[in-house]
Amino acid sequence: MTATSAPSRRIPVGVLGATGAVGQTFIRLLADHPWFEVAAVAASERSAGKRYRDAAHWLSGEMPARVADLMVTACDPASVDTQIVFSALDSDAAQEVEAAFARAGKLVLSNARNYRMDADVPLLIPEVNPDHLGLLPIQRAARKWSGAIVTNSNCSTMVIALALAPLHEAFGVEQLFVTTLQALSGAGYPGVPSLDILGNIIPFIGGGEEEKIESEPLKILGVFEHGAVTPARMRVSAQVNRVAVEHGHTACMSVKLATAATPDAAMQALRSWKGAIAALGLPSAPAEPVMVTMERDRPQPRRDVNAGGGMSVVVGRVRTDPILDLRLVAMGHNTIRGAAGASILNAELMFARGLIAV
Ligand code: NAP
Repeated sequence: MTATSAPSRRIPVGVLGATGAVGQTFIRLLADHPWFEVAAVAASERSAGKRYRDAAHWLSGEMPARVADLMVTACDPASVDTQIVFSALDSDAAQEVEAAFARAGKLVLSNARNYRMDADVPLLIPEVNPDHLGLLPIQRAARKWSGAIVTNSNCSTMVIALALAPLHEAFGVEQLFVTTLQALSGAGYPGVPSLDILGNIIPFIGGGEEEKIESEPLKILGVFEHGAVTPARMRVSAQVNRVAVEHGHTACMSVKLATAATPDAAMQALRSWKGAIAALGLPSAPAEPVMVTMERDRPQPRRDVNAGGGMSVVVGRVRTDPILDLRLVAMGHNTIRGAAGASILNAELMFARGLIAV
């Protein structure tokens, strides 16, 4: 593998759900992106017909000036005239809208849960399972779409799957008990009412959060062969909590391994893991997809959430588990690595693989 040459000109992209928490993260991350530029923004009928500056309740820093003046359109393929579409749509809207775009020949890179577990849809983490893009011809043939849908995982799944991938490769992960502490930005905007969450922990997150964490890692870590993904043989038990943190989901994990490993061996496996795309030189790929901290009280969202530009998962407290084999804590940025940044990295991989025409 060699480093990827940049496109001869920046590729225009659209953002669906551009006004929400994840949509805004797309706008921020794409503002200075070397390969892509935002040419279209779309959202619900509440926002359509307004300038982006008036439609979006901007949450962080300066709104990129070029996008501020764009007119927000409805989420239909006729209004969004780009080949590449990043979707940050609410799942209620994503089912029909994303299919309509794929049918119209667009490549949809989706954050919504709707298509993630469909057998012919890649649930992609470039460092972990780039070969799952092999599902695309199967998807196009089965659905008669000239475009396609490629998904990234639930935001907690992303943290968990990246932390597990090196351990699964080295030792085989058979069982996982995981408890998450999930940031408020994971609930979108306006999200959880302040009086419900200030000084509080809510041990429930709707939308099938626990079920997603119990199923998505198996597909991500599964093997693509003979045109299908065979899920990893792993059992997962998840408990989720919403906590009063702005950004950064934390996952406290206990794992049972097929081959026993000491904490030192596990840390070595985590530290040396660079993932499958290190040589491609993709703009959003962090040098270390998994960082290991030796500090006894890390990772912490406030201190570690922006590691690797928000694209690295930080793992710490790797130690022996008295019931299973190992315990560890992993943390990652939910709207960057767990959402918009992940989608953008997926698009970069697809460009590197020649799946996006300039
Ligand atoms: P959000 O802040 O509530 O934003 C939702 C976006 O969807 C808004 O732009 C909204 O537009 C648009 N929308 C809602 N209903 C629509 C409709 N009927 N037609 C067209 N557009 C519609 O939510 P979010 O947190 O950004 O999440 C977006 C998606 O990413 C969800 O599927 C979520 O599950 C997923 N996700 C979120 C995170 C995270 O950390 N937040 C992580 C991973 C995945 P208006 O502003 O016009 O209402």
